[in-house]
Amino acid sequence: MHTLELASVSSGYEGKRVLHDVTFKAQESAIYVILGPNGAGKTTLFRTIAGILEPYSGRVIFDGEDLIRSKEARKRINYLSHYNAVPEEMTVRGALDFYAKIEGGDVGEVLSLLSLDELKDKRISDLSQGQKKRVSIAKVFLTERDLYLLDEPTSNLDPAVSKEIRDILLRLSKDKIVLYSSHNLYEARDVGTNLILVRDGAIGYFGRISDIKSREYRVGIRTTTDITKLVDAKLGDGGYYVMSFSTPEEAGLTLKKLVERGVLVTEMRQLDNPLQDLFEDSSDRGLAAGKGTEAVESI
Ligand code: ADP
Repeated sequence: MHTLELASVSSGYEGKRVLHDVTFKAQESAIYVILGPNGAGKTTLFRTIAGILEPYSGRVIFDGEDLIRSKEARKRINYLSHYNAVPEEMTVRGALDFYAKIEGGDVGEVLSLLSLDELKDKRISDLSQGQKKRVSIAKVFLTERDLYLLDEPTSNLDPAVSKEIRDILLRLSKDKIVLYSSHNLYEARDVGTNLILVRDGAIGYFGRISDIKSREYRVGIRTTTDITKLVDAKLGDGGYYVMSFSTPEEAGLTLKKLVERGVLVTEMRQLDNPLQDLFEDSSDRGLAAGKGTEAVESI
């Protein structure tokens, strides 16, 4: 078990404050999604925790050690920058060999983990943005650390590789703290169990995603029976019967009632993302619902 604690941290660039009095204590082994619109301060938060930016005030403590003052403590962090900070003139294999010499790790293993075998002799400058990202992630996975700071790790990646990375993170997070930033609220819900919402450089929410209650719980049911006569439902887009409840339990009871009456339900889905309510006033400032992502989520 590890603990990352930020106490009244204010940070920024050349005297201009970006983070204002940020305080939270992460003490579960879990993936914490750092969610916020572009420009909210997510990267600044990572840079401050990683010790790249010295805060104007406040403390960053990991397992009782001050991350700002202790170089030793910082060695327990693996930081994936938002930018692909990989040496362009080297080959993939050459760069990873170089890092492995300094920090250890099995290059062959990360090459296959990130599906980089076929690209290993290519120069990094000749790779696409997504391929460069895979090299950056391979570097992060070379060594195991206790705290992972991953700034938009899946941007520019195709869905299959993104899923692979999330699965690795899920395994890692069993006994580590993983901070994972995103500006996509659907990704946030899929990836993490805990949420740190950053809004205008301050913490808008810190807690479990499962504790976030929707104001309304809308459910879509697919069935061949016309259920509008049995329950309060309306036939909506996509052939779903749509119903509104105030809790998931109410939805479950209605489903039970339908099944008891012999209705064959082939699918039941939650139609809204509970994180949506939280961001309502952020949505016009760039918080994306994600291109190509359905507003219909399985339950
Ligand atoms: P996010 O990661 O949430 O998109 P950032 O932390 O990158 O947000 O940016 C937060 C604010 O800090 C923005 O207003 C941005 O313009 C400013 N900022 C970021 N990097 C620098 C920098 N190197 N110098 C000055 N201002 C910066």
